[in-house]
Amino acid sequence: MKRRTFLRATGAAALLTLVPRGLRAAAPTVSRCRPSDAAWPSKSAWQQLNDAVGGNLVPVDFPLTILKSDPDGTHAKELLANLKNPYFIREHAGLTQSLGWIDAWKTSPSVYAVMARNANDIAAAVNFARENQLRLVVRGGGHSYQGTSNAPDSLLVWTRNMHDIEMHDEFVPQGCEHTMRPQPAVTIGAGTIGIQAYAAVTTKGGRYVQGGGCLTVCLGGLVQSGGFGSYSKHYGTAAGSLLEAEVVTADGQIRIANACTNPELFWALKGGGGGTFGVVSKMTLRTHDLPEFFGSANFTVKASSDDAYRRLIRKFVGFYHDNLFNDHWGEQVHVRPDNTLEVQMNFLGLDGDQAQGVWEPFLTWVKANGYSLQGLSIGSIPARHYWDAQWWNEHWPEIAFPRNGNPLHALADDILVHVMSQPAMAQDNRSGAAPGNVWWKGTTGECAIYWWGYESLWLPASLLESDQQQRLADALFAASRSFEIGLHFNKGLAGAPPDAIAGAKDTATNPVVLDAFALAIVADGEEPSYPGIAGHQPSLEKGRRFAQRIDRCVNKLREVTGPSGAYVSESNYFQRDFQQAYWGSNYPRLAQIKQKYDPDGLFFVRNGVGSEHWSADGFTKL
Ligand SMILES: Cc1cc2nc3c(=O)[nH]c(=O)nc-3n(C[C@H](O)[C@H](O)[C@H](O)COP(=O)(O)OP(=O)(O)OC[C@H]3O[C@@H](n4cnc5c(N)ncnc54)[C@H](O)[C@@H]3O)c2cc1C
Repeated sequence: MKRRTFLRATGAAALLTLVPRGLRAAAPTVSRCRPSDAAWPSKSAWQQLNDAVGGNLVPVDFPLTILKSDPDGTHAKELLANLKNPYFIREHAGLTQSLGWIDAWKTSPSVYAVMARNANDIAAAVNFARENQLRLVVRGGGHSYQGTSNAPDSLLVWTRNMHDIEMHDEFVPQGCEHTMRPQPAVTIGAGTIGIQAYAAVTTKGGRYVQGGGCLTVCLGGLVQSGGFGSYSKHYGTAAGSLLEAEVVTADGQIRIANACTNPELFWALKGGGGGTFGVVSKMTLRTHDLPEFFGSANFTVKASSDDAYRRLIRKFVGFYHDNLFNDHWGEQVHVRPDNTLEVQMNFLGLDGDQAQGVWEPFLTWVKANGYSLQGLSIGSIPARHYWDAQWWNEHWPEIAFPRNGNPLHALADDILVHVMSQPAMAQDNRSGAAPGNVWWKGTTGECAIYWWGYESLWLPASLLESDQQQRLADALFAASRSFEIGLHFNKGLAGAPPDAIAGAKDTATNPVVLDAFALAIVADGEEPSYPGIAGHQPSLEKGRRFAQRIDRCVNKLREVTGPSGAYVSESNYFQRDFQQAYWGSNYPRLAQIKQKYDPDGLFFVRNGVGSEHWSADGFTKL
């Protein structure tokens, strides 16, 4: 619907009489308006916005207030417990998954939020914000580490309620009828979170869609980040699977963006960073065939001395190159300062026996050389049930224990060796909670976290060449003296199939991702924590010390990577040279697209495209 028609249809044309005449035109904003300013919209203006969005404008409260006003009361205790539940956080406009970051940001509620139902609601909010010079914030799943989906004194557009899902056997993007072949796809509301997409596409539909590893990350934010899931080494990035988006741009227009219509905008939405080019209301993503099995390999190996640990890391680097550097294997290995290597890898397309066979030579070497091997589990399940909480409940523990004679028994130090590790899903146990409200237990630690530091760095595959492996191993050991390094193999696409590489190549993500075998992530924080809350104050001194250690750790890795990059959505709030780090050679093109679709910078996020023209809080044009 054209904007004028929409305004007439909703009666919101009256809004135009409520804003000062000079602000109606797209006069360049120099300073955005706060509630304390005379130009802040009147109550009746807000009321009319509320009417325009069907009564879905809500004042935003700040649930953490109770922890200050009545810290020992029942409500405060309940709240503290609920802060470890991502679905509780998700229900509150005034909360975000991370609560802040030392010396960087702390979560702060908007003044109002539009709980958008569709693109028209979003357009009404965008027009209102532009015409009234408001700071506009967009939120999907609220999982931004850098705090880009919250800001004080702002108007929030929240897509949480937009999670319709429709599967297609043969989808052709609008306008591409003569240039693209029909392909299986899924159209999802921009507020759809990972588990909602996986439940519909995989559990119910028997196909695969590229979402995030974390089940409560929203696909709207994920696709614009680039977006990696556990199996991205095979399927590529989420952005690489995008076929079409419906997006509301800064002028309030509802546009279709795909390879044939608004292709530049489409490209920018694929990894150019969320909250920057418009508000995405709907997306269509390619779906893929499912393999027969998904599985995981988990264990820890502890070395008894630094020298033994060096040898272990060196052995693993060579083993990874020879056996795991392919599209079957993703997720993580942690190189810990306590001389422990922790394997938490996922695989696809292999059954449990095949996967065990892959690891056997390494595990045999580990035992033969006196390392301690614990928590060993390598197994697979039917891929279709990987995100199926009910199936996990029904089949555990029958799938957990090895058949007689399983060779794993002879290797691990634990008495209990699992074929498949314990179902790692946590359930939202609040009364009335939907049964599908599940998340991986491993991400609970990130609920209500206050970050001390966070860094990421793509590691080029050239470091796996035989004459470089020792250098890489030495760098990992040296870096591990300062902090634990997570090697996320699924977040580097070297070793991926040509389709996955081609898809990611045609996105805005820094091209170094294509030649990286892994993304190293080094991060830590404390939870739950928030300034001013007794007993839960961020540990400033310790946090700053840890931030320095994180920095030292990643600098050791930088010594061997040379110029590389960082993943926009999993990186340092204080990222140096963010344009180059996040987007590399793609930045100039992104900057032009930003200028075309949002010349006045209505959409601002920390270290987003064009953010260099604004103050750090996004309120003042520089
Ligand atoms: C626990 C956890 C696990 C994670 N795991 C992964 C992972 O496995 N793989 C991975 O790639 N990343 C991962 N991330 C990072 C995550 O993908 C990004 O932070 C992503 O942008 C989050 O999107 P969101 O909508 O949930 O968050 P939000 O904070 O709501 O949004 C993130 C950014 O996108 C913008 N945005 C959101 N929706 C829209 C929209 N509809 N239109 C325009 N802009 C929008 C927001 O303004 C904000 O700038 C993880 C983050 C967390 C906290």
